[in-house]
Amino acid sequence: MKFATKAIHAGITPDPATGAIMTPIYQTTTYVQQAPGEHKGYEYSRSQNPTRDALQNNLAALENGKFGLAFASGLAATDAILKTLKPGDEVLSTNDLYGGTYRIFTKLFEQYGLKFKFVTMTDADTLEQHLSDQTRLIWIETPTNPMMHIIDIKAVTDLVKQRDIKVAVDNTFATPYLQLPLDLGADLVMHSVTKYIGGHSDVIMGALVLNDQEWAEDLQFIQNASGAVPGPQDCFLALRGIKTLHLRMQRHCENAASVAHFLKQHPKVDKVFWPGFEDHPNHQVAKNQMQDFGGMISFTLKGDDIEEAKSLMTRFQYFQLAESLGGVESLCGHPASMTHASIPREERIKSGLVDSLIRMSVGIEDIEDLLEDLKQALE
Ligand SMILES: *Cc1c(COP(=O)(O)O)cnc(C)c1O
Repeated sequence: MKFATKAIHAGITPDPATGAIMTPIYQTTTYVQQAPGEHKGYEYSRSQNPTRDALQNNLAALENGKFGLAFASGLAATDAILKTLKPGDEVLSTNDLYGGTYRIFTKLFEQYGLKFKFVTMTDADTLEQHLSDQTRLIWIETPTNPMMHIIDIKAVTDLVKQRDIKVAVDNTFATPYLQLPLDLGADLVMHSVTKYIGGHSDVIMGALVLNDQEWAEDLQFIQNASGAVPGPQDCFLALRGIKTLHLRMQRHCENAASVAHFLKQHPKVDKVFWPGFEDHPNHQVAKNQMQDFGGMISFTLKGDDIEEAKSLMTRFQYFQLAESLGGVESLCGHPASMTHASIPREERIKSGLVDSLIRMSVGIEDIEDLLEDLKQALE
């Protein structure tokens, strides 16, 4: 089955009771048993729910994985992964990553004895020197947030193949439509379903997909034991969003390419970060491992004035100033004061996240309107 067909059909069967073509929202906490311990596979909705099952199977199919798990948020999914590690274990992570991931690593899990190292991973050859006998997990986010670096997933997984180190990829920015980390050798894919997969800015949700049965069972145990599960209504909305994932991603990519080229030639703009440019340092890797270059762009202003950047963002008509990304509508954000405010300024600047950096999630509106909006706001 190819991608679009999977998005619409995988894991989904007409409702056995009525034939309803859409997976019903099983809004129930519990399931009646015929005799004590005798049931139809469903006991209590923290443990299993048919609407969640359909979504989990669909997500697994989209990522070419065996096991899918849905969580109450992307960070709840990340939390579950970290709970499979032991005190003393080390996690090697990209240094340019989602602010909330940095926060859960350093502010929550460091105090339970996990160790985190943040390094540049754009050159996989330099990664070896950072590995130790305690390294258990490599955390990759690609494209990175918000600098749009591209990490060569296959090069990283090849490097640790012979060791007891797992590789997890936050695939939120790319989505399985553009990039399939498991096929490139990664052990696990994490998603903030909140973003492109849900796609309509109306659900907070996370997901994990993997092939390793033992790790999957540990994660399923944590999903139930810690209980950060999504409700059936949200699972239904995510399933509904996924049905158009491929169409939305095509338009996100097309519009982002036009916006990137427009910004690049604008006299007020300094740098534009988008992996589709031939002079992007990791352009070739992006071309190899991604289907297209995604809907996310960052840019900086000449003079790097923080006030000018902030005021620009209030002049947009369609690019709404808001956190998050991946919805049908265009959004813009100021990482330094919004999503990445929890990262110390020196750390930020070191990784190129300067004061005037603006991040855009390019939506699927008419491109003429989006370019007109950028033009009037920059003038
Ligand atoms: C939003 C986001 C997360 C966190 O997901 P939530 O659903 O907000 O908990 C993690 N990684 C990336 C890249 C994100 O954009």
